[in-house]
Amino acid sequence: MIEPPHLTRPPLPRTLSTIMEAAAGKKILVVEDEQDIAQLVQHYLQKDGFRPVTAMNGIEALKKVKEEKPDLIVLDLMLPELDGLEVCKRVRSTPDTAMLPIIMLTAKAEESDTIVGLELGADDYVTKPFSPKALVARVKALLRRIDRTPANGATHYRYGALTMDPTRHEVSLNEQEIPLTAKEFGLLEHLLRHRGRVLTREVLLNAVWGYDYYGTTRTVDVHIRRLKQKLPLLEDAILSVKSLGYKLKDTD
Ligand code: CA
Repeated sequence: MIEPPHLTRPPLPRTLSTIMEAAAGKKILVVEDEQDIAQLVQHYLQKDGFRPVTAMNGIEALKKVKEEKPDLIVLDLMLPELDGLEVCKRVRSTPDTAMLPIIMLTAKAEESDTIVGLELGADDYVTKPFSPKALVARVKALLRRIDRTPANGATHYRYGALTMDPTRHEVSLNEQEIPLTAKEFGLLEHLLRHRGRVLTREVLLNAVWGYDYYGTTRTVDVHIRRLKQKLPLLEDAILSVKSLGYKLKDTD
């Protein structure tokens, strides 16, 4: 079936289309034991310019994560050897891959597992049966929101009524400046840049305190609490992710 061009490729604003070009060529690891689903997903990813690689079980998935260094993982929940949750957990707790974007595939009946999956650090999930096109769209959307570093020219992070100017080291809430310590500032900047993503305590410690810091991960909890006290809008916006770390809710 031939679709009219506007359906297959809607016109995009220039900034968006540039980002999409950047997403092309990215390596996507598809972990799925049902071969026909894996092939279908692989086909659609390829069609959009991605480079898919596949794994049939959890053990193979972890091996490919190491060897292939994918840019994103599409991870089925129900897998032989090692299930999707365990793969997700191990990827997140390995420093090199802690920030690797993960989309989890789940069946409707597994909804409670879906929630567990998100708590364990998947960035997004797609329920089976799914349309491969919709999955590719989610892959692109996730790749787009991975790094929110202000683009060239823009200097501010905005989050609701909160503004951060990293160059001037200023944070304002409703245009009123809020004094933050250097560590609080660094922590908030990291959360803003990676909003919508699960950040483990280790990732935050390394990013803000540095690799040679001797403190414990409790330090992160203490600073998160202080940030919430100083900036009440963060109270509900920063989610605690069970046994892993934190996530700043995505606002758009
Ligand atoms: Ca499966």
